[in-house]
Amino acid sequence: MPENQKEKSPSFQAPKGMHDILPESWPLFEKLYKASKEIADFYNFSRIETPILENVDLFVRGIGEATDIVEKEMYTFPDRADRSITLRPEGTAPVVRSYIENHLYNLPSPQKFFYSGPMFRYERPQKGRFRQFYQIGVEAFGAAEPKLDAEIISMLKLFLERLQLRELKFEVNSIGCEKCRPDYKKALVSFFSGKVAGLCPDCNRRYSNNPLRILDCKNSACAELRKGSPKITDYLCGECKSHFEEFLSLLNSLNISYIINSDMVRGLDYYTRTTFEITSGHLGAQKTVAAGGRYDRLVEEFGGPATPAIGFAIGMERLVEILKALNSDFCISAPKVFIATIGKDASDQGLLIAEKLRSKGIQAELGYDNASLKSQLRRADKLGASYVFIIGDDELKSGMIKWKNLKDSSQGEIGIAAISEFEGLYR
Ligand code: ATP
Ligand code: MG
Repeated sequence: MPENQKEKSPSFQAPKGMHDILPESWPLFEKLYKASKEIADFYNFSRIETPILENVDLFVRGIGEATDIVEKEMYTFPDRADRSITLRPEGTAPVVRSYIENHLYNLPSPQKFFYSGPMFRYERPQKGRFRQFYQIGVEAFGAAEPKLDAEIISMLKLFLERLQLRELKFEVNSIGCEKCRPDYKKALVSFFSGKVAGLCPDCNRRYSNNPLRILDCKNSACAELRKGSPKITDYLCGECKSHFEEFLSLLNSLNISYIINSDMVRGLDYYTRTTFEITSGHLGAQKTVAAGGRYDRLVEEFGGPATPAIGFAIGMERLVEILKALNSDFCISAPKVFIATIGKDASDQGLLIAEKLRSKGIQAELGYDNASLKSQLRRADKLGASYVFIIGDDELKSGMIKWKNLKDSSQGEIGIAAISEFEGLYR
């Protein structure tokens, strides 16, 4: 940026809580997409792409009226025909809608899907929490057995291991089904009945409309008051109990270490049985990298045939933050050669050379606008180029240009006509 523009405050800013993914971060995002696509292929999950906008009712009914997302986090507005439209806050409800609308249940089960893209939640922006953020997610329909739950966790683990992430904690729970949860809710309500006055205003509301949510409230007074509360795992019906036990025993066989967190109820109403969250020791307060669970009733609730299902979503920004903190050697694409030029004729010649190299698959970058040689070299260095070619009037006359290896400082000359055979470009 030219000096004289530095002090000006910008006329426009990105909407609050939304951010640009700048070129310095994009290679990491791209690598994550690539790694996730590889794992998805490996496990036979196929790409699905749903619209970023959906009818508001999809989320109100899917996620549940008494959840944080629906109560206060949705971007909902009327379109020009006065339909109530929502910017999707998550991917599961849209994929379920698509599964039913496109009759995908007629295909052999299980159907396994994979998606990635932006999600929108009107939250208080802070580190690791944005109003537009990116998720990678998977959803698998049509298999009820705990084998799928364990397989999906194993897939997530393999993905995170490929990124060389360590210090990950796998927390699992079962939140039962429509048969066992009502008894548990009753026990919870009776436990909190004498404590309501001490709960935060949100939990006061939750006490009457969604008491399970009191269990994952971050307020310290609520955390104190829920000590000794009944555990959902003690209330599971026979079927849910054996599902959970089998799931845990498969995790053991797969050598996946986990912690049972019976307070982990997740913030979305559609979950049944297995829920899980993966947290990282490298993040601050917003430490959940990925989360998911079963939702065996949702397809039917949306008007489809009874279809068990399970899925999870990974928060991309949080993954990128960890990779940056770890200084991961996720290689960022750097030009092989930077062509620094002095004068108009050399600059034109530089373009011809760059295009010739690019047509041979070699990544090249150029100096522009008569920038000084010093600032061009600074840019070459910043971009991580392996070589610089320096071309001025003398070089044009002699037909020989100077090259410099920026990694080991060796240098030499090469004829312009022979540039595309320059050996260093192919190492
Ligand atoms: P949290 O407890 O952090 O609010 P959540 O339960 O609302 O998470 P999910 O709906 O399960 O999150 O989304 C899955 C993942 O997406 C989270 O684990 C997190 O990594 C990421 N995520 C969720 N909300 C945001 C946000 N506002 N900004 C950035 N990432 C987010
Ligand atoms: Mg949240």
